[in-house]
Amino acid sequence: MYNEEQYNKDLKFVSKIDKAISPRLEFLLYFCAFIACLVAHICYLMLFAMAGAKIMVIFNVFSVSFYAVLIPLTKKVKDKNLLVYATIAEIIAHAVAATMCVGLQSNFAMFLLMLIPLAFLMPNKYKPAPFIVLFVNVPLYGALNFFCYNSEHIVYDISSTSYQMIFYIINIIVGSFVLIYISIIFTIMNSYNESKLRMQTKQLKDMASTDPLTKLNNRRAMNLKLAEVSISSEKYVIGIGDIDNFKVVNDTYGHDMGDVVLKGIANAIEETLPDNATAGRWGGEEFLFVLPDTDIEAGRMIADKILKIISGRVFEHEGRTFSVTMTIGICEGVKDTSVDNMITKADARLYKGKNSGKNHTEFAD
Ligand code: GH3
Ligand code: MG
Ligand code: MG
Repeated sequence: MYNEEQYNKDLKFVSKIDKAISPRLEFLLYFCAFIACLVAHICYLMLFAMAGAKIMVIFNVFSVSFYAVLIPLTKKVKDKNLLVYATIAEIIAHAVAATMCVGLQSNFAMFLLMLIPLAFLMPNKYKPAPFIVLFVNVPLYGALNFFCYNSEHIVYDISSTSYQMIFYIINIIVGSFVLIYISIIFTIMNSYNESKLRMQTKQLKDMASTDPLTKLNNRRAMNLKLAEVSISSEKYVIGIGDIDNFKVVNDTYGHDMGDVVLKGIANAIEETLPDNATAGRWGGEEFLFVLPDTDIEAGRMIADKILKIISGRVFEHEGRTFSVTMTIGICEGVKDTSVDNMITKADARLYKGKNSGKNHTEFAD
């Protein structure tokens, strides 16, 4: 069961993430990612130059210039997705060109596959985008594996130099960092979404079953509770209480004060009932409670206690004090009897109580 403690834990976690996802942090994340791309391409440029792969040197001059332009744009461009799409396109082109130039063994083609989860994970408004990446990169990866398998189709044969291993190791390290980054973000976002969903479900459940004024169960929730008690308790007591002359309270002290009284009475009932009992707001100024595993005598004592507590509660309005009383009708139900009949019976006794002086518990027909 999802309890209050877990709800507070979720609330703390969700507000922590909400606070963390500020526009400044978002900017910083993109900025750092583009800086990392720039640094990586400067390294590639130098390594390709040393390995004598001219085409890739020229390509990386363009790539470095591309990131040099992109970085200052991070602050200016509002839709960061555009910058990410441009980066993805550059990485795809770079992976293809590098594989065709220096071969499969240098492991540049790996980035084509790595981009796919990244594309699905990034928050984007253009829904087909990750699918485009998927359907472009998978065939590209297959085609590269097919065409570049033999060194005869490769522009620069670096298989006999140490550069092949250097590219391989660097690409594995860069790829691992990308995977770790994706996994961390994915795990955090997953937990965040789960917590938020759990909280919203609880809030909706509470809203659907709670009376907003008194915070007691509403009529719908009480009907469910009554059905549950009527099949699980050998004997149970249902009580319906109605505030006496409540119209006078509203007329004398105003509707807002009437609401204060309703809240006070709800509070008194809740505090007086035993732990296994459930109370709810049945109607305007009517309350219903159910006492599982209780007989009529014990039920009567509890109802009398409620009446005593209510009549002893003093309300104050503009310097004037007053108190209210209640009449309660109770009846005893046995396992598997119709709840509706029990409610009708308790209601009839309440009516009888109203006609015989109010402010007492009516427990017989
Ligand atoms: P009795 O002793 O016979 O029960 O008399 P009564 O005045 O309590 O009964 P009546 O049915 O004549 O009046 C009930 C009043 O309760 C009328 C209605 O305006 C008021 N009421 C119902 N719901 C609310 C509410 O949410 N807030 C306030 N302030 N008043 C409410
Ligand atoms: Mg009343
Ligand atoms: Mg009434």
